[in-house]
Amino acid sequence: ELASLMNVSPTEVISACFSLGVMVTMNQRLEADTLLLVADEFGYNIEFSDADVEESALEEDTDTAEDMITRAPIVTVMGHVDHGKTSLLDYIRKTNVIAGESGGITQHIGAYNVKLENGQRITFLDTPGHEAFTAMRARGAQVTDIAIIVIAADDDVMPQTKEAISHAQAAGVPMIIAINKVDKPNSNPDNIRQQLSAMNVLVEEWGGNVQSQEVSAKFGNNMDALLEKVLLQAELLELKANPNKNASGVVIEASLDKGRGYISTILVQAGTLKVGDYVLAGKNHGKVKALLDERGKPMEEAGPSMPVTVLGLDGAPTAGDRFRVFADEREAKTIATKREQLQREQSVRTKKHVTLDELGRRIALGDFKELNIILKGDVDGSVEALSDQLQSLSTEEISVKIIHQGVGQITESDVLLAAASDAIMIGFNVRAGVNAKELADKEEIEIRTYSVIYKAIDEVKEAMEGMLSPEI
Ligand code: GDP
Repeated sequence: ELASLMNVSPTEVISACFSLGVMVTMNQRLEADTLLLVADEFGYNIEFSDADVEESALEEDTDTAEDMITRAPIVTVMGHVDHGKTSLLDYIRKTNVIAGESGGITQHIGAYNVKLENGQRITFLDTPGHEAFTAMRARGAQVTDIAIIVIAADDDVMPQTKEAISHAQAAGVPMIIAINKVDKPNSNPDNIRQQLSAMNVLVEEWGGNVQSQEVSAKFGNNMDALLEKVLLQAELLELKANPNKNASGVVIEASLDKGRGYISTILVQAGTLKVGDYVLAGKNHGKVKALLDERGKPMEEAGPSMPVTVLGLDGAPTAGDRFRVFADEREAKTIATKREQLQREQSVRTKKHVTLDELGRRIALGDFKELNIILKGDVDGSVEALSDQLQSLSTEEISVKIIHQGVGQITESDVLLAAASDAIMIGFNVRAGVNAKELADKEEIEIRTYSVIYKAIDEVKEAMEGMLSPEI
C-alpha cells in the first residue's frame, strides 16, 4: 500500500526498509517510525490521521493474565455429504439446553451455544462443511477452535472427508473424528480407522493422538461421550478471553429482514457486547438496538464465544468480517469510511497470493519458508508420484508441503483452501470446473495444469531455485 501511494514498486520499499536495518515482508505492517523514515527516503512526508492511530491502538493486546477467563470452544462439523453432519448438529441442538434455558431453537442464526448437564458450554457453528470454514479463513477470520469430522461407518473415507481433514490440518485446528451410523448392521468402524491410518491420521485406539468416538447421530448413541471429548480437547487448548472490555469478534452471517431491518449474527471472541454499544462490522456500523439469542429472545449482553443476533446495523456485513465496539458513533464512522477506502484501493492494487513466477522474489524479500501446494490429478498413482517428487524438492531453506491432494477436478473448495493458505494449485491431467475457475480469478489464485510429471517438477524446482537466493 505504501509503495503504491508513493508510486514506486514494493521491492523498492522493502529494500529501503532493509537498508534501514528493518527486515520486512510484503504484507507486514510497518511501525509509525519506520513509515516516516521510509517515506522520507522517497521524499515524502507522512501525516497520521486520528483514525489510523486509534485503530492501531485498539488492536493492541493489553489483557493481563487476571483478566482472562476460560471461554467455550467453538466447533465446526465437517465431513462427506450424507455422512450425518446435519443429523449430528440437530441432535445436539434438540437435546441440550440452549443458552441456559430448556426448549429447542426455532431460528437458524448460523451458530448456537449449548449448555451441557455439567454446566459447561460449547458453541457450534451451524453451517456444516469445510467450504464455509475455509471461506471464513480466506477472509482472514479463524473462529473455529475444534473440528468434528463426521465419517459414516457404513461407507468409506470419501473425497470430501479427505478435503475436510486437509482443511482442518491446514488451519491448524485439532480434529475429533465422529465415526457415525454405528447403529447400522453393515457399519464397520475398523474399516474407517484403517483408512484414516493410511492417510496418517491415527486415532487414539490405534495408538495415535487424534480423538475419535463411535456415535449414532440419528439415535443419539454416545453423543455425550463425543461432547466430553470436545471439552477435553478444549481444556488442552486452554481457550481464554477477557470479558471485561469492548467486544470484538467475527460476523457469521447477515441478512435483511422485512420487519426488523438488517440482522447480523456475530460471534463474540473477546470482551462483552451490550445493547446500546456502537458497533463497526466490516463496512457497516450502527448502535445495537437489540441482541437476540437463537430463539429470538432478547439478551442484555453477550460475552466471549457467544453467538448473538444484532439489530441496528446500517447494512449487512459479509460473513468473516471483523466487528468491534467503539466509544462513539463519530469514531466508528471515521474508521468505516477509511476501511471502505482501503478496501477499494487494495482490491485494485495488491495481488495477495503467491504465484509460481513470483516465488523467487517473494522468498528473496521475506522469510517465506514453506511452499504450500494443493495437488489434484486424474488417477491416484500419478497424484502419489507427483506428490512424493514435489515433497522431495524440499531443501533446508524451504519445505514443500502438500496441504491437500486428491483425485478429480479442481473444485471451489480447493481454490478457497489455496486462498486461505496461500498455496499454489497444481492440476495433473485435470482442469478447474467453471465455478472454481471463476472463484480463482476473483481470489487471484493461479492454477497450473500439467500433463507430464517431469514438467511440473521442473517448473516448481526452477521457481524454487529462484527463491533460494540471495543469501544476506
Ligand atoms: P449430511 O449431508 O452430512 O448433513 O448428512 P445428514 O445428516 O443429512 O444425514 C444423511 C442421511 O443419513 C439421513 O437420511 C440421516 O437420517 C441418515 N443418518 C445420519 N446419521 C445417522 C445415524 O447415526 N444412523 C443412521 N442409521 N442413519 C443416519
